Amino acid sequence: MAESFTFITRSPEETISLGERLGRAAQPSDLVTLSGDLGAGKTHFTKGIAEGLEVKRVVNSPTFTIIKEYKGRLPLYHMDVYRLEEQGGEDLGFEEYFEGEGLTVVEWAEIIKEQLPDHFLDIIIRRDSDTQRTFTFTPYGERYIQLSKELQGK
Ligand code: ADP
Ligand code: MG
Repeated sequence: MAESFTFITRSPEETISLGERLGRAAQPSDLVTLSGDLGAGKTHFTKGIAEGLEVKRVVNSPTFTIIKEYKGRLPLYHMDVYRLEEQGGEDLGFEEYFEGEGLTVVEWAEIIKEQLPDHFLDIIIRRDSDTQRTFTFTPYGERYIQLSKELQGK
């Protein structure tokens, strides 16, 4: 059974720092699914991940491109598969990204759930107030249980 745990952030900067810790701990072929309503903080969190991966370019929402790739200590593959919903989650060769050298972050991952591997870290962001967010991390598979322990400082 995957055990979830939560982090609370109280500013956009704290969300970026949390993402940065994940980016620093990332290894090749890591996969993170990220969900939360509009304005929850998905883009801020991903900017933090990019900082932790030492990506120098500015990270924006990939909505109009579906997949954006950034160079860093490891590559960051940032996907927003929302626009694939109408086609029933058409396969754009996701596996090559999932198995690639980088960390993949997928927004709206439920649309391509049939194409996801068994193991990944699921992150849900909830908006508690104007400035507070609760992050629920659920690790699936040994690698992500390990990564989660690292992030919790265990
Ligand atoms: P999304 O990509 O999920 O739509 P964004 O990261 O683009 O969300 O936007 C989040 C918005 O919420 C920003 O305007 C940001 O300033 C604000 N915000 C307030 N508190 C927080 C917080 N704790 N973490 C992240 N964003 C926050
Ligand atoms: Mg966004």
